[in-house]
Amino acid sequence: MDTLKPPRCAKCGRGMDEGLMIDRGHGNQRDIAKWLEGPPERGFFGWVKTRGKRQLAVVTFRCNGCGYLESYAPPRLSSPAPRD
Ligand SMILES: [Zn+2]
Repeated sequence: MDTLKPPRCAKCGRGMDEGLMIDRGHGNQRDIAKWLEGPPERGFFGWVKTRGKRQLAVVTFRCNGCGYLESYAPPRLSSPAPRD
């Protein structure tokens, strides 16, 4: 899959625009929000553990009409797990 076909809004049926959710990580750096496989686990300092988990960048579509958001985690945007 190279590109996601923008879906029709499930609420009002209008077209949707592709975008992404911004996540603020270490040092307040902007990053793309990720989908992480499995239930949440926290480490010693309360950080969410990411090591060894499959991660996929989240693509979010926004409805032009009502603003409804629909998210996907397609395999094309997968990234290697960062060191933690
Ligand atoms: Zn809509």
